[in-house]
Amino acid sequence: MPRLNTYSAPRSADVVVIGAGINGLAITREAAARGLHVVMIDRDDIAARTSAISTRLIHGGLKYLPRMEIPLVFESIRERNILLTTAPHLVLPYPMLIPFARWNKTPGWLMSCGLIVHDVLAIGKKLPLNRIVFSGRLKRDWPSVAKAGVKWGGLFQDAHVPVTERFATEIAIDADRHGATILTHTPVVSLLREGGRVAGVVYRDRVTGEERELRAPLVVNAAGPWVDSVLDLAGPHARKIGPTKGSHLVVDTFPGAPDTCIFFDSPQDGRPMFVLPWWDGRFMIGTTDLPYDGSIEDIAIDDDEVAYLLHSVNTIIPEAGLAPADVLWSYSGVRPLPYVADLKDPSSVSRDSEIIVHDGDASGLMTIIGGKYTTHRALGEQTLRKIEKALGMPREASPTREARFPGAPAETVARFRAEFIARSALPERSAARLADVYGALARPIEMLAASDPALAEVIDEESGAIAAEVLHAVREEGAVTLEDILLRRTVIALGSDVGLAAAPRAAAVLVAYAGWTPEQADAELARYRDSVRRFMPRALRAGTAPSGML
Ligand SMILES: Cc1cc2nc3c(=O)[nH]c(=O)nc-3n(C[C@H](O)[C@H](O)[C@H](O)COP(=O)(O)OP(=O)(O)OC[C@H]3O[C@@H](n4cnc5c(N)ncnc54)[C@H](O)[C@@H]3O)c2cc1C
Repeated sequence: MPRLNTYSAPRSADVVVIGAGINGLAITREAAARGLHVVMIDRDDIAARTSAISTRLIHGGLKYLPRMEIPLVFESIRERNILLTTAPHLVLPYPMLIPFARWNKTPGWLMSCGLIVHDVLAIGKKLPLNRIVFSGRLKRDWPSVAKAGVKWGGLFQDAHVPVTERFATEIAIDADRHGATILTHTPVVSLLREGGRVAGVVYRDRVTGEERELRAPLVVNAAGPWVDSVLDLAGPHARKIGPTKGSHLVVDTFPGAPDTCIFFDSPQDGRPMFVLPWWDGRFMIGTTDLPYDGSIEDIAIDDDEVAYLLHSVNTIIPEAGLAPADVLWSYSGVRPLPYVADLKDPSSVSRDSEIIVHDGDASGLMTIIGGKYTTHRALGEQTLRKIEKALGMPREASPTREARFPGAPAETVARFRAEFIARSALPERSAARLADVYGALARPIEMLAASDPALAEVIDEESGAIAAEVLHAVREEGAVTLEDILLRRTVIALGSDVGLAAAPRAAAVLVAYAGWTPEQADAELARYRDSVRRFMPRALRAGTAPSGML
């Protein structure tokens, strides 16, 4: 049996979850761990939409302090602690410098108080205390920020999950392990109604194309920005989601690039912004926060956003001198925030989540509004409390509070990594990559590579990714398309050319080992190239994509 099966034809369930973003995943894992028969359905892949475009922070809630959203701060701190323990190979400590620049709306002394208050609220946390950074240390450790005229700042101890793609995949694997049924590339096309209530869903089978009925006493609408489209299937309703657009840039290291994350106010409009050391030496810069009413299917960054983000970074790090041509690629999406009529300031909308239990004609349906990576597990737990109540089940303690992720090594991450590399017959770069991307789940990939020298071959020079990863993604991790494989299982696409160079080699592996026909491989390659255009990769902008990909 694969570790993650993403195709079957279920007829009934205790709960159906629509959407395999981070919220749907959290609810599904929590429900399965409590012994419920849960089916999660997504028309795309695991965490392929909003959950693929976040800033990747497991944020301890400092941002919510000024609005006095104290319960959300507490919840964020608690969940950050849990994730640092249960997913130590994926969730990493991530200190961030907060420069107290002259253009900041909040004075430095008040920010300093905020850092101290946060430490008090976070007593017992797994991270060091926050610090005030005075001029001497700022000049020594962040000289490029000091050159912007910044005299002092704060060092906030936070966490991040650089590869949210693997984080989400591991949650799906864990849910599957507990008996959840997961269907990807499977749209829900309508809701079943019986006795004046919602009684399940109708979905389109991804292999046969047939519409199938799936009965369940409860359906959870975790469709993120598409929550209103799913509610349309239940009849007329008040609008629930008021999306705001958020975009990030990905760049190579640059003059003055910091070792730590910089969390600063944009000099242009005072919005919070990040320069984020990220993956394989690259940086992310984000984000924008703009009211948005356009199509979200192929949403992409626009020139004004690029100019805004680059201007902000070039002001806080003057020697950066970043220009649009330096942008390797970018990604955009919308925050599924609660709808507010005539919204003027998107940052004023609460980032807390809401679970709506519908009644009347829509009883049997629950809808999730908002939600974040940081607090996804808590949202799953809260939703299950409501599900248990609706199903008349006894209230149970959450099994996910202490459950380690499937790739969490038994030993410390550093020890696991060192031993894995030392033992592996693979070149050090590829072995290190396997340990970093997959944690303890790297072992079966290494065994696959050991079974056939062709599978140990490097298919992506930049990352050192090997052929066995591609095969493992389809055999063991429920990947269906080249995009699933490159973007969300092997994460080769997080490289500087979004996987364009590696794609033909990955497709060749699938022709040789996974029964793909050459025609299927060609069609998938064309689809992949079209799909990654939304990231505006420099390789395609400049027309320098590898031959075979244009
Ligand atoms: C710019 C930005 C930065 C962010 N940064 C952070 C951060 O640093 N830290 C943090 O904790 N959070 C962050 N967030 C918040 C977090 O990423 C999102 O709120 C979260 O990913 C939303 O997840 P979701 O499951 O609700 O939605 P989605 O991930 O969009 O999942 C919804 C799913 O529903 C599916 N679907 C829709 N309609 C149907 C249908 N009819 N049938 C089947 N499936 C359907 C879609 O395909 C989709 O996969 C950020 C968000 C944004 C936009």
